[in-house]
Amino acid sequence: MRTITTSNELRSALALQREQGKHIGFVPTMGALHEGHLSLVRCSKQHADRTVVSIFVNPTQFGPSEDFDRYPRTLESDAGLLIDEDVEFLFAPTADQIYPPGHSFSIHAGPIATLYEGARRPGHFDGVATVVSILFNIVQPQSVYFGQKDAQQVAVVKKLIHDLAFPIEVEVVPTVRENDGLALSSRNRYLSQAERKEAAVLSKTLVLVRDLIQKGHSAPAAIAAGIEEFHKLAPHGILDYLDVVGAETFRPAASFEGNEEPITIIIAAILGTTRLIDNLPL
Ligand code: AMP
Repeated sequence: MRTITTSNELRSALALQREQGKHIGFVPTMGALHEGHLSLVRCSKQHADRTVVSIFVNPTQFGPSEDFDRYPRTLESDAGLLIDEDVEFLFAPTADQIYPPGHSFSIHAGPIATLYEGARRPGHFDGVATVVSILFNIVQPQSVYFGQKDAQQVAVVKKLIHDLAFPIEVEVVPTVRENDGLALSSRNRYLSQAERKEAAVLSKTLVLVRDLIQKGHSAPAAIAAGIEEFHKLAPHGILDYLDVVGAETFRPAASFEGNEEPITIIIAAILGTTRLIDNLPL
């Protein structure tokens, strides 16, 4: 594996691969890698000739009171995991490689960025859309791999690729979970032992809501039962939102009819000081 820290060096290395007709797969991450990230990497390894993984804790997607400073940075062990997966290129740029001095342009992600995660984290999806666009321009991959775990991010990235005409295929990889259902996340390490026990409540609530909807209950009835279940299983947890939405627009499913878009159940909750999100496609 070649570890590259500058955009120019990565551009030249990948130009060479492209000249040889190699299909380039790209997995953008913020590091602190776990099995969830590695399943994206394995997907790219399966489909592409060369896999590029980026590790960049992107400052523009964190709000002023969020965990940018304490976000885990474990580059050395991450690199070890990627070597084990036979990844060809690790791109680990410094901030000024991505945002050169004087950088002032950004991408506005549109209406979807004002809902749910976007409403709680103003500017978050603009930051995601901007960094992803810059990375796409540097790497110029044919395919990119994103996790279902961040369903609203997937919707933003798909719309970005469509609206800005990036010639890129998106593969969405299923969420990797612990045995009790908790979705793997770099933020799980912030949980105390007691909070970690309660954290399975997110996936359990999603499964209950999905089962009720599949049995014919209305979305509002299923959500009401889900809210009750959440508070029963996690009396100390704070439920931020639980909703049934269109997977492409994140409009509440109750606001549109029939099969306009696939449906996803989404949840966000705070355990102690840690905010967790999860979702389950119907
Ligand atoms: P992050 O490093 O948190 O920005 O995540 C990088 C990529 O890994 C994103 O596409 C995430 O959706 C994906 N990812 C994170 N956790 C999981 C998981 N548990 N299962 C599958 N993909 C994940």
